Amino acid sequence: MSHDELRRTVADLHAELVHYGLVAWTAGNVSARVPGADLIVIKPSGVSYGDLTPQSMVVCDLDGDVVEGDLTPSSDTAAHAFVYRAMPEVGGVVHTHSTYATAWAARGEPIPCVLTAMADEFGGEIPIGPFALIGGDDIGKGIVQTLTGHRSPAVLMRNHGVFTIGRDARAAVKAAVMCEDVARTVHVARTLGEPLPIATKDVDALYRRYQNDYGQR
Ligand SMILES: [Zn+2]
Repeated sequence: MSHDELRRTVADLHAELVHYGLVAWTAGNVSARVPGADLIVIKPSGVSYGDLTPQSMVVCDLDGDVVEGDLTPSSDTAAHAFVYRAMPEVGGVVHTHSTYATAWAARGEPIPCVLTAMADEFGGEIPIGPFALIGGDDIGKGIVQTLTGHRSPAVLMRNHGVFTIGRDARAAVKAAVMCEDVARTVHVARTLGEPLPIATKDVDALYRRYQNDYGQR
């Protein structure tokens, strides 16, 4: 995929954040690694989702410095860039403050794996990352430390919101959509009583099947 195609893909994926109700105003962003290059494509800072175009996307290096583009990149660029530097298998990163998932983050509580859909996509609980201030590497470090060796492609950064990773940007967006969906369902379940846990061996079996056999081959 060329730079230009990737700019379009990343611009278009922001519409999915709006479609699924994951963002208010401009508070959410998508980035993608440029295949075969130490570059990423990311949202410009403070631009409304309806105004995003392929041309307005910003290309940065893995230190978060602008390589191409007229606009300032997302204020979360340092966090995205840290993840790409530390996790070579990651091709896409998404950040949102989606309501239900961020409500779990505000309480610092991981979302327990009590739904088969959670076992499928996350392979267990959705973990909590540390509290970290924006700017510098602290958020990126917290994401990487929490997700390294964890099956979950989503982390709830404490008092802040959701970061997700994927093999590409679309997979990271899917993880952000699913994270909010299960955060809402488990919250509703909690208000009705105590959700039932799923046995670890069943979580493992569900995760294996979904990751290997689900969908079109
Ligand atoms: Zn944020």
